[in-house]
Formats: sequence, C-alpha cells, structure tokens
Amino acid sequence: MQEDDVTMPSKDLLDLLVCPLGHAPLREEGESLVCTRCGPRFAIKDDIPNMLIEEATLPEGCSSLADLPCVKAGDAKVDLG
Ligand SMILES: [Zn+2]
Repeated sequence: MQEDDVTMPSKDLLDLLVCPLGHAPLREEGESLVCTRCGPRFAIKDDIPNMLIEEATLPEGCSSLADLPCVKAGDAKVDLG
C-alpha cells in the first residue's frame, strides 16, 4: 500500500490538538475540527487548523463563549469582555 499525500491533518497531529478552551479532544468532521466536549467548529485551511476560538463556529444554542462546557469547566482563558 502506498501512502498518498494527504490533505487532512495526520492522526498524530489530531492527537496533539485539543480544544483551546478546555483541552478536550477534537474529532475531525469534514474540513473542520470539532471539540468533542463543547462543540465549536475550527476550520481547516490549507491543512492548517485555525484554532482561534474567535474565528470558530459556535454550536447551535450557544450564543456566547460563556455557554460552552469547556469554558464552564474552568480551564479556559478567554476574555469574555
Ligand atoms: Zn472544547
């Protein structure tokens, strides 16, 4: 079996990446990474995940970062302004 050039982040990379808010694991969903705990969607552009929470798509029902479970878990360092 040959290894093709992959356009998605490698499994190893995915293992290293965690939610920037609560450090929960992420899962790959199409061209984005989704926090398995709090659900924001981080877009992958040019093979590089954009882990900026400010640019992530919040899950339905979450109007602000303060609603996210990872933030409530207390690990997050976000400026809720
Ligand atoms: Zn999270």
